[in-house]
Amino acid sequence: MCAADRPLPLLVVADAGARLVRRGLVAPGDAARWHGARVAVFRRGPVVCELPAARVDAPSRAPYLPRDSQPARAHPVCHPGARRFAPRMTLALYNTLTRRVEPFQPLAPPRVTLYTCGPTVWNYAHLGNFRTFLFEDLLRRYLEASGYDVFHIMNLTDVDDRTIKAARAAGTTLRRHTEPFVRAFFEDRDYLRLRPAHVHPRATESVPAMIVLVRRLLDRGVAYQGDDGSVYFAIDRFPGYGRLSRLDRREIKVGARVASDEYAKEDPRDFALWKKAGPDDDAVGAAWDAPFGRGRPGWHLECSAMSLYEIGTRFGVETLDIHAGGVDLIFPHHEDEIAQSEAATGRPFARWWLHGEFLNVRGTKMSKRFGNFLAARDLREQGVDAAAVRLLFWQTHYRKPLDFTDEALAAAGEGVKRLGDFRSRLVGEGGRERGEGRLAELAAEFEADFRAALDDDLNAPQACAALFQLAHAGNRALDAGAGGAAAAVAALDRAMAVLDVLPTPRTAEPDLARWIEAQVAARERARKSKDFKEADRIRGALLARGVELEDTPTGTKWRVV
Ligand SMILES: [Zn+2]
Repeated sequence: MCAADRPLPLLVVADAGARLVRRGLVAPGDAARWHGARVAVFRRGPVVCELPAARVDAPSRAPYLPRDSQPARAHPVCHPGARRFAPRMTLALYNTLTRRVEPFQPLAPPRVTLYTCGPTVWNYAHLGNFRTFLFEDLLRRYLEASGYDVFHIMNLTDVDDRTIKAARAAGTTLRRHTEPFVRAFFEDRDYLRLRPAHVHPRATESVPAMIVLVRRLLDRGVAYQGDDGSVYFAIDRFPGYGRLSRLDRREIKVGARVASDEYAKEDPRDFALWKKAGPDDDAVGAAWDAPFGRGRPGWHLECSAMSLYEIGTRFGVETLDIHAGGVDLIFPHHEDEIAQSEAATGRPFARWWLHGEFLNVRGTKMSKRFGNFLAARDLREQGVDAAAVRLLFWQTHYRKPLDFTDEALAAAGEGVKRLGDFRSRLVGEGGRERGEGRLAELAAEFEADFRAALDDDLNAPQACAALFQLAHAGNRALDAGAGGAAAAVAALDRAMAVLDVLPTPRTAEPDLARWIEAQVAARERARKSKDFKEADRIRGALLARGVELEDTPTGTKWRVV
């Protein structure tokens, strides 16, 4: 009833306060109350759809609203007279399928099924691969921070053209060749603080699901066995083919085939679902028996089969909420995944397609060929703090190319250190007071800006700008002896659950650790006997040695920063 009556807004302003200040319409002090407010502009004037929860009962002073508009807090059409607010404007994501930023809405909230194409474990994953994985980590963490219950699937491609070729060249089996690279990937993942996927299906362990999918496609008449014995997908029999990559269907050559996993968009052809086993495949242990002949899966088939299997057996659905990967996967990989999956199920394969841009090294796309190849482990071996790599990546939007230079990495390292120092100062203050104060206000403004930035297609550069603004203004407030540090620590930690860019804590030498434990115990005794002066002195002495204390309900925790 309501939705039918509801007029469509002409414009939605996500954070009215920040925008008004930018335009010079109100002073920063006056705008503070509007931080986090969302204003929808309708034909007849703007309406405040949502005020930050803490400010709902603040006097409604809206100098910038036209006189004939309604400064109502409730939606005038949907909730007449009620003290309810229109739903919070939430996350909007750029969908490659529609080429638009769209409000995100999962199929069965709060669950979000997320499939991200994992590494091909023929070699070490390079930093360009990790840029994609990091953008997916940001997506996953922000979804979780926004209250969604994410189920993340990331496959491991341990059989395809490249893995077989590499195993053959190394004179070993596929399993023996790929295993060290699988371990290396997990080590690199942990180094870069990527949240592990809930499942990491391996292609070689998912062959039965792939055989079932090929069978379905053969039964539906969209796949056929070629005279070379391999099974191909007939792209002219799937009308949606080319929708994701905006392929000109007139270019499709009926019956032309391609057997290799990788080929160009300029040359769309029927692609291999199941490749007849050759001598190399059998030599490395990459061949399986199937009703349509002994062979091995094509790379594109693997992702369709593994994702459909996981969401089908766990949730009884055949549509993913989000499928993500690097831009280089749009064609042919993701185009082919859509064709295979939708031709088999008759349902949309994924509602959102998200793609991360390339990483350039010194202005050129990173590749072994250009000699600017960088692996995550190179950075780890050079002692680079993963927090600096993360911050460097967040400072460029995931849909823009990023140039990786030593200077940019060093600057990110400085930024990480500034944030770590700021948190240490806050923790030092927060242990003494829990009251309200300027820091609590700054924290509330920061959180509103932070959320508005990430809600806007994961605008991490803007979220980082808000973070450094908090550190800058917060340090000044600390200099002036402001209160509210505990609220600022809490806000900072919530942001860190998403960005995770605080310096990696250093491990303490055994002697230092023993000294710290003794100091912590002495401080505890001082606190128990209400000698707060002595307790503060010990905390100060520890801080001077770079040891940060945090008092928690389960006792005092320490870390070396
Ligand atoms: Zn894939």
